[in-house]
Amino acid sequence: MPRRARKPGFDTLAIHAGQEPEGLTGAVTVPIFQTSTFAQVAVGKNKGYEYARTGNPTRTALETCLAALEDGRWGLAFSSGMAATDAVAHLLKAGDHVVMGDDVYGGTYRLFVRVFDQLGVAMTTVDMRRLAGVRKAMRKNTRLVWIETPTNPLLKVLDIRALSEIAHKGKALAVVDNTFASPYLQNPLAHGADLTLHSTTKYIGGHSDVVGGAIVGNDTPLRERLAFLQNAVGGVPGPLDAWLVLRGAKTLAVRMDRHSANGLAIAEWLGEHPKVARVNYPGLRSHPQHDLAKRQMRSFGGMLSFELRSGEAAAKRMAARTKIFALAESLGGVESLIEVPLAMTHGSVRGTKLAPPAGLVRLSVGIETVHDLIEDLAEAIG
Ligand SMILES: *Cc1c(COP(=O)(O)O)cnc(C)c1O
Repeated sequence: MPRRARKPGFDTLAIHAGQEPEGLTGAVTVPIFQTSTFAQVAVGKNKGYEYARTGNPTRTALETCLAALEDGRWGLAFSSGMAATDAVAHLLKAGDHVVMGDDVYGGTYRLFVRVFDQLGVAMTTVDMRRLAGVRKAMRKNTRLVWIETPTNPLLKVLDIRALSEIAHKGKALAVVDNTFASPYLQNPLAHGADLTLHSTTKYIGGHSDVVGGAIVGNDTPLRERLAFLQNAVGGVPGPLDAWLVLRGAKTLAVRMDRHSANGLAIAEWLGEHPKVARVNYPGLRSHPQHDLAKRQMRSFGGMLSFELRSGEAAAKRMAARTKIFALAESLGGVESLIEVPLAMTHGSVRGTKLAPPAGLVRLSVGIETVHDLIEDLAEAIG
């Protein structure tokens, strides 16, 4: 990219960072380097790549682009969001302790409770909206504070700056799972977090056609440790998957603008509906952390949830009746999805204090024509 006095804007970085025309042919699109190994010039001398688990040019392009989008110094791409989470968890050792929000992504909770617990890493979950509770949960051996905001499925908004300060006071890392917001809406590093993590499967990929993950940060020793883990454990994306995520990233800004506009319009419409008891969307003035959301987010995205007055049976009926909204787990793609958390994504916490309300419906609002989406919901609510 030509050097300019001003830093290029987000949309420009999404299309160009790490994606200069290819040297040999001038190909404008980063090639899919579908190779497992690279010929060496001489023993101990190579052109920057040796073996594709350690590094691949398509993956490098993606890592450079994601670092630019999060305004971080470096990025590392993984084969899934969970592989990225696992790499962060591997920074810990037996005897360490983690403080985590009480409604983080189910797979994250499971990784710490079922896998790292066996390895001697303890965990405490707290409602991270209450900073005093977070301070109280911190122990001498707390080394990681895991922040996911907005949360799933209740769309609570957590104060990244305040939570990062609590973490740092206790000499723990502050890590933000930024999947729901995407780097276009929220940049956790700018609010004091040490690492920002993504399931690129969701908004960054954006087309429901690839599974991937990423970590972005500023600290060089942390990069060395995580790059070591990326290579030592091996949860890396193949070149085609890296390419798909990179192609998705190019349109992230325009997609997020439409996701946010559609999300707000639908949240407002639901808020007026007589069968809806409450709507959870950070962009609504009625949201309890709306001011905080305005401070740390650029806009409010396409994720929302709402409670039907008549409970779980009505929620399931509605979710089965939409025609444009597909009944499916996952989120962040161009197409709209609907699900009932208690019966689907959050089934494992049914009967516990972490269980979402029975009549809760979650929407991943896509980028279709908003009137069609509202009509679809209106017919399905009945
Ligand atoms: C999907 C998701 C993950 C896990 O990512 P995968 O790509 O499915 O492994 C982690 N955090 C959040 C918030 C997610 O939505």
